[in-house]
Amino acid sequence: MAGSLDDKVAFITGGGSGIGAATAKVFAREGARVAVVVNKNLEGGQQTASEIQEAGGEALLIRADVSKEDDVRSAVQETVDHFGRLDCAFNNAGIAGESKLVVDYSRAEWDLVIAVNLTGVWLCVQEEIRQMLTTGGGAIVNMASIAGLRGNPPNAPYSASKHGVIGITKSAAKQYGSEGIRVNAVCPGGIETRMVAEVIDDPAISESLLRRQALGRFGEPGEVGEVVAFLCSDAASFVTGVAMPVDAGFVA
Ligand code: NAD
Repeated sequence: MAGSLDDKVAFITGGGSGIGAATAKVFAREGARVAVVVNKNLEGGQQTASEIQEAGGEALLIRADVSKEDDVRSAVQETVDHFGRLDCAFNNAGIAGESKLVVDYSRAEWDLVIAVNLTGVWLCVQEEIRQMLTTGGGAIVNMASIAGLRGNPPNAPYSASKHGVIGITKSAAKQYGSEGIRVNAVCPGGIETRMVAEVIDDPAISESLLRRQALGRFGEPGEVGEVVAFLCSDAASFVTGVAMPVDAGFVA
């Protein structure tokens, strides 16, 4: 049976765990050849790549810190050198940072979250677009959050970084639509990964979050992956510049 991403080459950051790992497997199931990009989590990346290969798919493990320009440039180049082209990208790598009052953040804490979550997406988008322009198009999905659509009082730097991701997404979508490049963002609500383990383990925070997620549960990482795969597929050929909630109704 044909997959929705047959013959496409995909670049997925943060592919060693959580939503990135699950999405890499959805992409491979749908026929894509996948570059699994990890920073420190080499073991997680190896696991994702092995699972894809054992299921009969193609995966390439690449090490890169998305906040470093040279790393991003060589990671995208390695993908193209290995697979011959770049069709899709999911710029997913991110960190939560600490939860504090606005006045209690140090400059270093702010800089770190912005460097990974916002500058990391920016550098990836730049490099991916440069490649996609050489082949006549592609589809990019950036990882935002419900914290990019509304304020997130416990963690302002995170919320600022995710609002910024949506700004990059909409601007790039407008600029490169005529070149056949679609750029969208996903905005997940609470998804069960290690990033939100503390939230899930705290009954007070967990209950208040679940009251707002109309489906009354946390999401599975793969439920985000399915939406990202759709946005990268030709089925979404008329969709660009969107910041799509994947949040069980949270922002509704
Ligand atoms: P996760 O911690 O499992 O995944 C984050 C991944 O990013 C990890 O694999 C980590 O190694 C990688 N990473 C961190 N810094 C990096 C760097 N400098 N360079 C390259 N890779 C780096 O948690 P997750 O929940 O799967 O998070 C994935 C993305 O989803 C993040 O951007 C997060 O902000 C976003 N998100 C998560 C939720 C949720 O509820 N889990 C909700 C909204 C948005």
